[in-house]
Amino acid sequence: MPNARQRNAGDKASSVVLSSVLCPPSSDHYAVFGNPVAHSKSPRIHAEFARACGENLCYEARLAPLDGFAAAARQFILEGGEYAKGANVTVPFKEDAFRLAEECTPRARAAGAVNTLIFQEGRILGDNTDGAGFTRDLTENLDFSAAGKRVLLLGAGGAARGVVESLLALSPVALVIANRSAEKAKSLAAAFAGRGLAPCGMGFAALAEEPAFDLVINATSASLAGDALPLPAGIFSARSLAYDLMYGREETPFLVQARKGGAKRLSDGLGMLVEQAAESFFVWRGKRPQAAVRAALIRQLRAA
Ligand code: NDP
Repeated sequence: MPNARQRNAGDKASSVVLSSVLCPPSSDHYAVFGNPVAHSKSPRIHAEFARACGENLCYEARLAPLDGFAAAARQFILEGGEYAKGANVTVPFKEDAFRLAEECTPRARAAGAVNTLIFQEGRILGDNTDGAGFTRDLTENLDFSAAGKRVLLLGAGGAARGVVESLLALSPVALVIANRSAEKAKSLAAAFAGRGLAPCGMGFAALAEEPAFDLVINATSASLAGDALPLPAGIFSARSLAYDLMYGREETPFLVQARKGGAKRLSDGLGMLVEQAAESFFVWRGKRPQAAVRAALIRQLRAA
């Protein structure tokens, strides 16, 4: 793989550094851990944020072994010493990161998953910026108000868990969570009962009984495998916004499905990717990249 260098080959703690720029010793060190991670746009996004905000930091992509996330994160801290300041965590390590963190923010605890680690005075702190990134993209970039609207969340994995609390804070009139494994949807809905509006959990087939939704969010990983979901067409209407957390060059199978079902507004998750990164940057550096910087980055990444 180009620009990759294996450290401590054969050691479970080893991770592979995939970014092309090696960190100078005097800059603060950050990384994104994932498996796979070569496709990650986070190094480019954080390099642009650092440039725009005048911050001296270096951000690399690290491929961690599937059974070795915690060891790889500790290795990164050890290597960077006082300069190792934090990390992002992507699929499939968000729950591992939640377990690794010695202390978590309320939003990470609500999600049961961590996508942002902060290394501070020898301690490992965990946060989750996915929900904030999603709602910022929805409300500011897409100018969509979910207040009083019917919202359907598809999926009950880490990403779905990460956005439920933020969705409830937008005051929808109904929040239905539907998943392939109906029991997981029901248990996710039950975990958020008693916070105002009670979400309702079900399997995909039960959606046939539901009227159309104003906002349909795909937080499953089905689009990754190119799979369409077994959804009844009636969940979409002309006023629906269909939002796929996944993004890519082509329209995702879910967005194709939504368009054919009559949804007039479609969005992929590229805006969320940039916005959750901006929230992580703010957590680490106390500076939020300006809206114009974030919008330009979304446009550039979409065109790349
Ligand atoms: P998880 O592995 O935690 O969860 C996967 C979910 O997808 C489960 O609900 C699972 O259902 C469902 N699923 C998987 N395959 C299928 C299928 N073929 N048909 C129906 N349902 C399926 O993944 P995450 O929650 O971490 O990620 C989900 C998606 O969100 C990914 O595409 C990821 O890239 C994206 N994401 C995007 C972000 C962004 O910034 N844009 C941020 C975070 C995530 P079951 O429980 O039945 O197995």
